Amino acid sequence: MKRRQFIATLASATAATALAKAKAVASPLIGIQVAGHSLLDEGMERCLDTIQATCHANAIFLYSHSYYAAHGRAPELYADHGVPIRDERMRKITRVWLRHHPEAFKNSSLTMPEPTDEYGDRDLFAETVEACKKRGLKFYARILEPDTSKLTGRVANFEPAMSVGLDGKISAQPCRNNPQWMAWWDAIVSDTMKSYPLDGFQWGAERMGPLSSVLWRGAIPFCFCEHCETRAKREGINAARARQGFGELHGFITKLHAGVAVPSDGVFTNVMRLLMKFPEVLAWDYQWRAALEEQGQRVFKLVKAERQSAHVGRHFDHQNTSWDAIFLAQWSYADVAPFADFIKPILYHDILAPRLANQLAELKRGPLAELSLPQSLELFYSLRGYDSKLQPKIDELNVRGMDPEYVGIETRRIVDVVQGRCSVVPGIGVDVPNTALEAPNGGKRPSDQIALRAVIKNAFAAGAGGILISREYDEMRLESLKTIGETLKELGQV
Ligand SMILES: [Zn+2]
Repeated sequence: MKRRQFIATLASATAATALAKAKAVASPLIGIQVAGHSLLDEGMERCLDTIQATCHANAIFLYSHSYYAAHGRAPELYADHGVPIRDERMRKITRVWLRHHPEAFKNSSLTMPEPTDEYGDRDLFAETVEACKKRGLKFYARILEPDTSKLTGRVANFEPAMSVGLDGKISAQPCRNNPQWMAWWDAIVSDTMKSYPLDGFQWGAERMGPLSSVLWRGAIPFCFCEHCETRAKREGINAARARQGFGELHGFITKLHAGVAVPSDGVFTNVMRLLMKFPEVLAWDYQWRAALEEQGQRVFKLVKAERQSAHVGRHFDHQNTSWDAIFLAQWSYADVAPFADFIKPILYHDILAPRLANQLAELKRGPLAELSLPQSLELFYSLRGYDSKLQPKIDELNVRGMDPEYVGIETRRIVDVVQGRCSVVPGIGVDVPNTALEAPNGGKRPSDQIALRAVIKNAFAAGAGGILISREYDEMRLESLKTIGETLKELGQV
């Protein structure tokens, strides 16, 4: 399909779905994210009983494919739900929770082997459809786009569909301009919707663009595959200049990380100078985002083609809702809204604090070298409109969560931007574990119950169309689930 024709098709799909979208905004969506193994480890009926009796969720969000998900957590990060906790580090659990039609994948070289891992013999989606129907619960598929590390050993022949780094090697994430990748992803969406009577499909890609990857982590810039170069040519971007600019920027950040003396005219000044000298770097980064959004437009169209009434949800991860100023600048939620019935921004108030500590430290090693960490934190609070008197100080980021105003402010921001064109359903973080990667004192971070009540109230006061109880049911303590249920009752939302 030619690009113009594709866009015209999308436009007509958008117009045709106006009614379905209005319906999505009308009633509060109280979703809870559950992993497939939880339903089977705890038992379907027992697990759904627990959910309905505590937090009063009206929708189950179950991974269709859990390639990219919380895996390998220590047993102490699980919550006690009254059933024995099994150490997932010792298990090889399936990553596919439904049955596909192999012919749906005929246009892609990527192949999924027959499921042989634990629970691979179950069609959990069929079981969940029946269980939810009996209870009047809605059932949404959820999926996070997998990357190189999550596909390794699980999906055959994925390598040619991955991004190519400036060094010519396979990069960490798939290339969304690669026809093999697009065909595989589109087949997953279509076939999932075709095969089960789902109420909706929520998708996300927890990714940094090439420019953020360089500035934060000094990662090798990407994607310089033939398909991205063709796209750049079509958009009038000089690929050779983009390569040169990314190469110089990467070299500069790499030197900073290695502790090589900083230039006398300043780190920030030199980063800006490279971006001005090579505006192709910004253009390349923007095309990365544009390809991601085109994927979102295809998801919307594919889901609606299978079931007009099904809701399309767009998951935005923590990096992209909260601290990646480049991602936030690239594309407005207003441009996403036509292709989503609801936007689910991750707004996990507790875990944001240690995550911020980690992010600010990374920037300190790179483009924000001239700012002290307290200055950098203050700048972040100011840019986002938070009250620094309420929020944690730099030395508190690893010991207390963000003030609940965070959830209200960020929800309100998106509600204001999308202007009713889609619903906003913030992801509320419940007992989300910290990991050693994010802070030296990683581990369980039980939610403070007063703050948990406050974030839910703030979300609805800001115009949320519901909440998504996150991130995984198996981490949520019963006390927290009950607090959520009580708060929703108090608010008249259930
Ligand atoms: Zn590419």
